[in-house]
Amino acid sequence: MELYGDYHTHCRLSDGRQNEEEIINAARERGLKEVAITDHGPLAAVIGVGDADEYLKLRDRLDAIVNNYPNIEVLLGAEANIRDLQGTLDLPPEIIVELDILIAGLHPYTLPTSIKDGWAVFVQNSLRHLGRGQQEKAINNNTKATVEVIYNNPQLDILSHPGLFFTVDIAEVARACVAKNVLFEINCAHEHPGISAIIEADRAGVDFIINSDAHFRETVGNLNYGVKLVKKLGIAPEQVANRRQGGGYKQWRKNKKNCTYS
Ligand SMILES: [Zn+2]
Ligand SMILES: [Zn+2]
Repeated sequence: MELYGDYHTHCRLSDGRQNEEEIINAARERGLKEVAITDHGPLAAVIGVGDADEYLKLRDRLDAIVNNYPNIEVLLGAEANIRDLQGTLDLPPEIIVELDILIAGLHPYTLPTSIKDGWAVFVQNSLRHLGRGQQEKAINNNTKATVEVIYNNPQLDILSHPGLFFTVDIAEVARACVAKNVLFEINCAHEHPGISAIIEADRAGVDFIINSDAHFRETVGNLNYGVKLVKKLGIAPEQVANRRQGGGYKQWRKNKKNCTYS
């Protein structure tokens, strides 16, 4: 299966080791028609952007250079961090409206909205080794946080690497993705999720997106992990949002709007 675009990459604004032009050039060399630059939200320690305004500055820089790259569409996005059990992300609405594409995911060392939520999500996960009860509690909390984000953020396009770092109930998260037309990511950098979770998500009826999550120019557009898996598992091409014939981001957004928000 050929893919239209790569919708999850990081530049030096967060923890990527490449600048925006290196991402664009690498995507072009891979023959992609679209690429999104989606740096981490500001409240994940070490990996996040210094300040949410950095997205707006990147928008200005992209506006100034995109005409040099007529064969590829460049999207400004973010990978926001899930902060609590109520579905709060670490980006304010005034930044989110400026983005072309919004990803959300659970990441370690994110600043929670309260001590209570910090305990429920982030500390609870560090207690998993204490036994089955603590582990179940962690999975329940991770799942609730994720599902609430899906339900409470209508702008959300993609759930990144479901179940990586923080274990979730895949079937429940997948059902929420279906209900709110959020894409379930197959993340090639982390080679995650694995086969059984993809089968479970497929059973729930999700649409997938295969992304590189590239932090280096060498891995932009490296989508082989996902391409191989969907082929192996017999997932219909129509279920892969960034398949070559799908028309890319604009078409998928249009379909999403028609289905969910009209
Ligand atoms: Zn991530
Ligand atoms: Zn990422």
